[in-house]
Amino acid sequence: MSRSLRLEGIAAAPGIAVATARAIDRKKILVPKLELERGHAEDEQARLDLAVADARAQIQLSIDSITKEGGSKQYRNHSMILQTHLLLLGDILLIDATKDLIATKQINAEWALSIVTEDIMSQLSSADNEYLAERAEDIGFVSTRVMRNLLGHSEELLNSELNSDSECIIVTIDLSPAETAQMVSSPILGFATEKGTQTSHTAIMAQALGLPAVVGVSGLTEKVNPGDTLIVDGLDGIIIVEPDDETLARYKERAAQWSAMENRLRSTKDEPSVTSDGVEIVLKGNVEFPGEAPFALDYGAQGIGLYRTEFLYLDREEPPTREEQVKTYVSMLKAVSPRPIYFRTFDIGADKMPRCLHMTKARNPALGMRAIRIGLRKNRDLLKDQIKSIIVAAKEAKVSSADIMFPLISGVKEVRQLKAMVAECIEELKQEFDGFEPPVVKIGAMVELPAAVLLSDIIAREADFLSIGTNDLIQYMMAIDRVNDDVAYLYSPFHPSALRALKIIVDAANSAQIPVSICGGAAGEPLMTPLLVGLGLREMSMAPHSIPFIKAAVRTISVAESEKLVQEALEKSTEDEIEQLSVQFMQGKMDITI
Ligand code: PEP
Ligand code: MG
Repeated sequence: MSRSLRLEGIAAAPGIAVATARAIDRKKILVPKLELERGHAEDEQARLDLAVADARAQIQLSIDSITKEGGSKQYRNHSMILQTHLLLLGDILLIDATKDLIATKQINAEWALSIVTEDIMSQLSSADNEYLAERAEDIGFVSTRVMRNLLGHSEELLNSELNSDSECIIVTIDLSPAETAQMVSSPILGFATEKGTQTSHTAIMAQALGLPAVVGVSGLTEKVNPGDTLIVDGLDGIIIVEPDDETLARYKERAAQWSAMENRLRSTKDEPSVTSDGVEIVLKGNVEFPGEAPFALDYGAQGIGLYRTEFLYLDREEPPTREEQVKTYVSMLKAVSPRPIYFRTFDIGADKMPRCLHMTKARNPALGMRAIRIGLRKNRDLLKDQIKSIIVAAKEAKVSSADIMFPLISGVKEVRQLKAMVAECIEELKQEFDGFEPPVVKIGAMVELPAAVLLSDIIAREADFLSIGTNDLIQYMMAIDRVNDDVAYLYSPFHPSALRALKIIVDAANSAQIPVSICGGAAGEPLMTPLLVGLGLREMSMAPHSIPFIKAAVRTISVAESEKLVQEALEKSTEDEIEQLSVQFMQGKMDITI
């Protein structure tokens, strides 16, 4: 009898993949628990000493390479953290206590280390004191390093695990955006996770890579065995485990239909994105890496409306140097030129925590140190380095302007502080390079906080352009963590509050006569297209694969009827009513269902 199972989750990236499951247990390091035979405690203590000595050498190596890099404040901070870790390796509470426990309980080093670490961390974390919570993180970091040395694991457990030789589907609890990015060069056909939502950065990454993905599948890892045949239906958010022959055949046909439709739509690449009454709607691509730019152009992108530069900072030990950034940005600008690029300064924090910044995971990271807050409050040098790199790159690539967009703006005070920082960067560049003539620098504010919506008229008077980030805007308006699948049901770009917010922002930008675009997931949703056009948006940026779909939608609608649709939609009370209105509006206009 077949054990075919159908599991429901959230459709995170479109497409259909069929392959065998590959389970990854990323988070947990399995701690072997062994009782020692009498007289072996000293051997275990010696093993621990060796692992600690290795950890010390590894940390010292990092410190040396930082010292060589230079003496900026950011490096000094990093070096200080590592020095603290070195001290902790000699700490009585951690290492000596572990040795004692090995002897008194007669257990192996890994087990003893895990008990002592847990004990110290829970004491420090329960103190409700930020300083002590940071120390708990340090202890955890040091202990993991020693544990990995004891177990003979490399630092990046997942790097090797993600290097698959044969086609497979990754099944795991959770994946970070950086880990998802690693899948680009391997024969991984798709993935399914227990955690995550449609707007999490992991989902965004999967869309960028064209990997079908379903996230938020509860009980997934318990229900799927490695080697099971799996269907990932990234269109409807369904996972089928060990499908019967009929289901398999049906899905293979659906997959073929999907790629035929994609190809058909992609062939519209050179057709203009113009409504039936002749109004141009500019469609741009969202990218994370320069390598994606050619794909975006191939899908018909008229520029890059969101370059998520923070991916340059993830999955590495040190932040990128200015030289590296300039090189990367120049190659990006050259690949896209003469079309424009909005460089979004690093949006680090929340669900993107780069190892290289050693940030403490706050209790509520989405409400914590994130994006421009890091650059304005914690690490000015880091943001200044990035701003300078973008300006120098624009100059080198000889483009008409450096368009710098700042995420998570909460009010005009931040816009002013950031403008002052840009001016400071330009002054410093003039001192650094004799006769440096800066390019035109345009400053954009992302509107993705409710506060910024209400202040968008004031912000629009001080910024050169606005860009609406609906992923965060809806997260913060609805109080739904982007990575928490339990509350993902509340996410809807059709929500009346979202529509009203969009209206406020677009009207504000139009009154101030500055460009406004939308770059959140709502821009890539064809049923949102008539609403966005009706609200007055003339520029949208999205995951590149969505561009042909949105262009197909744009070409079937008129501005006049879209404006009428919006009037009606603004009278409605629920997201279901608004979505239904749009479904009726689009019916018969375009057939993109499979
Ligand atoms: C958004 O918040 O809608 C957005 C486009 O930015 P990101 O998804 O990178 O947070
Ligand atoms: Mg955002």
